[in-house]
Amino acid sequence: MARICVFCGSRSGDSDEFAAAAEKVGTLLAACGHTLVYGGGSTGIMGVLANAVLRAGGNIIGVIPEHLARPELMHDKVQDMRITADMHERKAVMHSLADAYIALPGGYGTLEELFEAVTWAQLDLHTREVAVLNVCGLFDGLCAMLDKMTDHGFLSADCRRHLRVYLDSQQLLDWLSRLGETR
Ligand code: AMP
Repeated sequence: MARICVFCGSRSGDSDEFAAAAEKVGTLLAACGHTLVYGGGSTGIMGVLANAVLRAGGNIIGVIPEHLARPELMHDKVQDMRITADMHERKAVMHSLADAYIALPGGYGTLEELFEAVTWAQLDLHTREVAVLNVCGLFDGLCAMLDKMTDHGFLSADCRRHLRVYLDSQQLLDWLSRLGETR
């Protein structure tokens, strides 16, 4: 089974649909037997996702930097919590564990982590798949921008395609199930 590294918000957003999508993804991750690798947080979409995986009996590895490893931020039910010296080490550990990446709704942190994953794929530093779940059109503007960068020649069509965009949890879940079959 695969280890799926999920980047997602430390906030919940303004619609219940964001949390509902994260809940669905967490439940399916566990059902597929995949291990969730994530930022170790208890708040926002991160907390919803981790709780769904735990409820469904799945495995989680949390990776959190020392400065965020505080009781009010760090998930206290995740057994395998790896505390790193800083953000750089955290990302190195997350990348070393990941077989594939998913971004769920989130903000700056989510985008930063997502774009590192696709940038490193572009540089042939890994061949792992990267997917985004575009809940409530949150990433519509981002996708339009990527298309524009492709049109203007700043992004190759292949690199553009490397970032898979799914519109609903079911599509993402089908992709996850297929990943499970190939491992
Ligand atoms: P953001 O999208 O800005 O909310 O940032 C979320 C991403 O940044 C997550 O995938 C985490 O890796 C990291 N992050 C941001 N805030 C926290 C936090 N309070 N606890 C743990 N990780 C966090």
